[in-house]
Amino acid sequence: MIPGSQGGVGRRPGPLHGGMVKRDKHLVVANKLDYSRGKRPPVDCILCSVAQDDPRVDNLRLYRHGPFFVTLNLYPYNPGHLMIVPERHITDVRQLEPPEVPELHRLTQVALEVLDAEYHPGGYNVGYNLGPASGASIEHLHLQIVPRYRSEVGFFDILSDSRVIVEEPQVTKERLQRAFAGMAPGLLGTG
Ligand SMILES: [Zn+2]
Repeated sequence: MIPGSQGGVGRRPGPLHGGMVKRDKHLVVANKLDYSRGKRPPVDCILCSVAQDDPRVDNLRLYRHGPFFVTLNLYPYNPGHLMIVPERHITDVRQLEPPEVPELHRLTQVALEVLDAEYHPGGYNVGYNLGPASGASIEHLHLQIVPRYRSEVGFFDILSDSRVIVEEPQVTKERLQRAFAGMAPGLLGTG
């Protein structure tokens, strides 16, 4: 499974200590992550809702290109954890139209360039969870891009098998929206 791809979706966080809540194996600073209280928005498909700017969903979309958009993961495993998502509701890569396949790969390359420039991670996990036995928590097809950092194994991992999200997603969103707007049109040849 792509790390963090379940991310505690739908789970109720329990109180821990020091103003933090424990959600699955993630520790987050409670007052900075009001949206990630462990409950799903009341919509049929959260990614269709993001595509349609549904106000019931926290919109972390970063960039639109052709039939795809790039969004932050609502339950990030690491800072800069992205997803590339088709606008239409499909559930398997085999449902992509032939011209969409290279477009998705090109957008993946652009996303990696943007993340390299902005976050300088030491590596990435990139991929899909397909089908109910895969650990996917959202049916709508999404390609996960998880930056990995050499320093990410820290005190909390060792102490409690938990992780600390070190950047508020709203900050990540603003950083990456700016970076995509600056870099993507040139890289995609659309600027
Ligand atoms: Zn959908």
